[in-house]
Amino acid sequence: MHCSWVQERLVAFADGELSPGEATFVGEHLDGCEECATLDAALRDVTPAPSLAVPPEVLARMAAAVDEAVMAALDEPIVAAPPGMAARWGRWLRRDRDLSNGAMVGYGILLAACVGWGVSNWIAYQELQQEITNARPVAAAAPSSPATIDSDDYEPASYSPDASEENWR
Ligand SMILES: [Zn+2]
Repeated sequence: MHCSWVQERLVAFADGELSPGEATFVGEHLDGCEECATLDAALRDVTPAPSLAVPPEVLARMAAAVDEAVMAALDEPIVAAPPGMAARWGRWLRRDRDLSNGAMVGYGILLAACVGWGVSNWIAYQELQQEITNARPVAAAAPSSPATIDSDDYEPASYSPDASEENWR
C-alpha cells in the first residue's frame, strides 16, 4: 500500500507544503485508510498550532496608529457641510434623467429659443404700442370740449308703448 509514503508526508500535508497533486493523493488516502487517518489525527494533536500572538511592539504600533486615526477623525467636522445650491440642482437634474447629455443640451437650447422668441415678441408689442401713443394727435387725445348732446337732440329715456309703436310704424 501507500501507507508509508503517506505517513512520511503527513506533517508536510498538515502544514500545506505538499504539491497539489500530492495533497490530493494524501487526502484521498486518509479518507479511505483508518490507520493513516488515526496517525494524522494524533500528529495534529501534538503539533502546536502556529502562534497567533502578536509581538508587543507590533501591538504598540497598531495602537498608536489607531490613536492617530481617531484623533484625525475627531478633528474633522462631525456634520458634513450641506452641498451648495449648484451641487443640489445638479444632483436633482441627474436623478431621474434618462436622456443623454446631448439631448439635454438640445432641449435646453430649444427652450431658450422659445422663451427668447416670446420675450422679443413682447418687447416688439410694447414698442409698437409706444409708437401708436406717440403718433396719436394731441387734440384727439385731449378734446377741447367734452362731448355733449344739444338740448334739441336730447330725448328723455322714457318709454311709453304708444310712442314706441308710432316710432316703429
Ligand atoms: Zn494508509
